[in-house]
Amino acid sequence: MNTTYFAEIILPLSLDGTFTYHLYEEDLQQIKVGQRVAVPFGTQKLYTGVVHSIHQNKPELYKTKAIHAFLDNEPLVTQTQIKFWEWMSNYYMCSLGDVFRNAFPSALKLESQTFVRLINAEFSAIDELNDYEFLVFEALKLRQIISVEEAALIVDEKSAIPTLKLLIDKGIICLDEKLSEKYTPKIDNYVKIHPDLKGNDQAFIAILDQLNKAPKQRETLLQLITLETQLQGKPLKVADFVKQGATNAVLKSLAEKGAVEIYQFQTSRVEGKEEETSEISQLTLKQNEALTQIKTQFVDKSTVLLHGVTSSGKTEIYLKLMEQVIAKGNKVLYLLPEISVTTQIVHRIKKHFGDKVGVYHSKFNQNERVELWQKTLNGDFDIIIGPRTALYLPFDNLGMIIVDEEHESSYKQMDVKPFFHARDMAMLLGGLMNAKVLLGSATPSAESYYNAINQKYGYVELNERFGNIKLPEIKIVDLKKAQKEKEITDDISHILRDEIVEQLKDKKQVILFQNRRGYAPIMECNTCGHTPECPNCDVSLTYHKFSNQLKCHYCGYVQAKPIRCPSCGSHELNTKGIGTEQIEHQVQAIFPEAKVRRMDVDAMRGKFAYEKLIEDFENHEIDILIGTQMITKGFDFGNVNFVGVIRADSLLNFPDFRAHEKAFQLLTQVSGRAGRRQEQGKVLIQSFQAEHQILQNVTTYSYAPTMKDILYERKEFLYPPFTRLINLRFKHKNKERLDKTAEQLVTLLKASFESRCLLGPEAPSIGRINNLYIADVMIKIRPNQSPQKVKDLIRQKIEQLHTISAFRSVRIDIDVDPV
Ligand code: ADP
Ligand code: ZN
Ligand code: ZN
Repeated sequence: MNTTYFAEIILPLSLDGTFTYHLYEEDLQQIKVGQRVAVPFGTQKLYTGVVHSIHQNKPELYKTKAIHAFLDNEPLVTQTQIKFWEWMSNYYMCSLGDVFRNAFPSALKLESQTFVRLINAEFSAIDELNDYEFLVFEALKLRQIISVEEAALIVDEKSAIPTLKLLIDKGIICLDEKLSEKYTPKIDNYVKIHPDLKGNDQAFIAILDQLNKAPKQRETLLQLITLETQLQGKPLKVADFVKQGATNAVLKSLAEKGAVEIYQFQTSRVEGKEEETSEISQLTLKQNEALTQIKTQFVDKSTVLLHGVTSSGKTEIYLKLMEQVIAKGNKVLYLLPEISVTTQIVHRIKKHFGDKVGVYHSKFNQNERVELWQKTLNGDFDIIIGPRTALYLPFDNLGMIIVDEEHESSYKQMDVKPFFHARDMAMLLGGLMNAKVLLGSATPSAESYYNAINQKYGYVELNERFGNIKLPEIKIVDLKKAQKEKEITDDISHILRDEIVEQLKDKKQVILFQNRRGYAPIMECNTCGHTPECPNCDVSLTYHKFSNQLKCHYCGYVQAKPIRCPSCGSHELNTKGIGTEQIEHQVQAIFPEAKVRRMDVDAMRGKFAYEKLIEDFENHEIDILIGTQMITKGFDFGNVNFVGVIRADSLLNFPDFRAHEKAFQLLTQVSGRAGRRQEQGKVLIQSFQAEHQILQNVTTYSYAPTMKDILYERKEFLYPPFTRLINLRFKHKNKERLDKTAEQLVTLLKASFESRCLLGPEAPSIGRINNLYIADVMIKIRPNQSPQKVKDLIRQKIEQLHTISAFRSVRIDIDVDPV
C-alpha cells in the first residue's frame, strides 16, 4: 500500500495529541475536517473520532492503520471548534481527547457498541466469502443488525473489525448509524378521522350505525369531528385527546373498525411550549444610556462589564442588545450559571424571540443534546441560552456572548476535565469568532472589576433600580445580643419573626436563606462528644430529619440515624448547627398556618422540580420559601418585599482567599430578591459577628470599598488578579505514598520558584474524599513570568517524577485558575 495522505484524528482518550491514520484514494473523496469517523485503536477497540486535519507527513515511528468508516457525509464539528478545543487543552493542561469527550455529545460517539446492518440479504455468491465473513453474514440474516461486540463473539476479537470492513466493502452490510447512535427521535402518536370517511357520507353513517351499541366509541368519534374543526388542520396528539376524555382503548377499537387512523410523526424534543411573542419593553432613560455606553465601548474593547445593581434592568438591556445583534444577522450565546434555576429568564427571552431560542438544559438527556447540536449546526437558532457547556455548541456567525451573573463560581467546571472557567472561555471563543463579550453582574468578581477599572474591559454602571425603587434596607440582627436577652426562639430571632408576621399579614411572600442543606450539619454525643463521621471521607455526616438518615455530602454515603452513640452507647445524641431542613421545621412551628417550602438540592430532585416550585411560588402557593444559594440566582418575584438570612457566619468564616468576596456577593444577591416591583424592600441578616466589616459593607452597598480592601489583600498575599494560580491536586488511597509523591514533585519544582510562590503539599480542609487522601501543591505565577513556560515546566517535572514507577500510581489533577 502506498498512500501518501494521512489524517489526524481526535479520539476521546486521555492521551496527548491526535492520532494518525492513512487514507485510501477513495477516502480522499469524502474526508472533511470535522467529520466523524470510526477508527480502530489498540488491538481491538473501535472508537469514534473527529477528523482534525489532513496531511502528507508519513509517521516514521509506527505503522498507521486505515479509517474504518466515515460516519457522516458532512462535518459535525466546525474548524473553529477544533481550534477552541486545542486551545482549551493547552491552557487547562489536559489532553485534546479530554476536551473532546466533554464537548461532544456522547450519543454521537460510537464505540464497541457500533452496529452494522444487513443491506444485501439476497447476496448469493457465497463462495466469495471467507469463513468469518460467512458466519457474520449468516448471523445477520437472522438478526438484521448486530454490534461490533457481538461480531467479536461470533468470529474472534481481532477479526471482527476486518471482517465487518470486508463485508462493508462488498456492499453486503453497512454501519447502522441510526441504531448505533443512541439518538432516537421522539415519535408521538396522532389521531385523525380515517381518510376513507372524509367526504364519504354513506360510509360515515354506516360506521355511526355500527357504533350504536358502543356509545363510548360513538361519542369519542363525534368529539373528534368537533375537535378537528376547531384545530383547523393542526394535528391532534393522542395524548392531548386523552386529556380531553378519550381513552386509548376506545381509540384502538375505533382504529380497528376503520373509523379513525392513528399515525406517528416525529416531534422535536427540544422545543418548549409555544408562546405568544411580544415586544421588548422600552428602556428607561438610564437603561438607554447604559446601552449606548456598552455599544460605544464595544467599538474598541472586545469585553464590557455591565455593573448594574440588582433589578436595575440588566436583563432588559440584554434583550435589546440581542435584538440588535440578530438584526445584523448574527447569533447570540447567553450564558447563565445554572439553567435549571433560571427558567424565569428563559421564559422572558422566549417571550420575545419565540422558537428562534434554543435552550441547552443541564438536565437534558443525550437525545436532546444531539438534537440541539444539530439544530445549532443548521443555524436554526438566533439565541442559545445555556450553562457553561453551551460554549461547546457548533456555532456559526456568533456576534455576541452574554455572561450573566459573571461572578458565579458555578461557571467553573470542577467535576470533569477540562476544569475550565466559562467566563474566560467565553472571551476566548469571542476572540476566535469575532464576537463581543458582555459580562453582567450586580456584584462583579474581583478579577473582572480589576480588569474593568484598569481599562482592559469596558465598564458601564447602572446604579438605580427600575422604577427608581430604592435598594432594600438591610439590617443586621446581632445573635449574641438576641441570645443574651432571650429574644430568640431556636434560630429565629424575635425581630425576624415579627417581620415575617407583618409580611404575611400584608399577603406578601417571604424568602429565607440558609447556606446549608440538611437538618443539622453535625450530630454529637452529649456524653462522650463523639461525632459520627463518613467512613470514606474526613467529614462529619449531616443529619437529614425527613429521611432520618446521616448523609455524607461529598461521597453520597448514607446510614440510618443511630439510636445510641456508636462510641459509648449513650442515648443522648444531639444535633449541632442548622440546615435548611431544620429551619423549615422551626418556621413551620412558628407559623403553622403558612405554606412553607424548601428549595435545595435535596428538595429539587427530578427534572421539572425547579419549574414546578417557581410556578408554585409565582401562583402564591408558597408563603415562605427557605433555600440555599439556589434562591439567589436571578430570581425575580414581584410579591417579595422581605428577605431574611438565618445565619451569615459560615459564609464569613470560610477558609479561602475568596471567602470575603463570595460572602459579599451572596448576601448582596440574596438581599436583591426583595422589593423588586413597587416599594423598597427590607432585609434582615442574622449573625454572631454583627460588627464584621463585610456585613457592614453589605448594609451600605459599599461594593467599591469592599473591592478596594479585597484587592489590597490579594496584592499583598499574591493572589489573583495579581498572580495566576495552578493547583496540583494529588490523590491516592495510601497517605504515605501520596505525601512522598507530592513532596518529590515540590523538590523538583523548587529551583524554579520563589518560596512564596510554591506552597504545599498541604491537605485541603477535607483531606480525604471517597477513601482517597488528598494533597494540594499551589503554584503562583507572577506577572513577569510566562504562564506557558510555567506550564511546560510543570509538565516536564511531572514526566520526570513519573520515571520512578512508585510515583506513577498517584493521580495528579492539574487545576489551572482554581476557584
Ligand atoms: P436585573 O437583571 O438587573 O436584576 P431585571 O431586568 O430583572 O433586572 O429587571 C427587574 C424587573 O424590572 C423585571 O421584572 C423587569 O421586567 C422590570 N423592568 C426593568 N426594566 C424595565 C423596563 N424598561 N420596562 C419595563 N419593565 C422593566
Ligand atoms: Zn458517646
Ligand atoms: Zn463521604
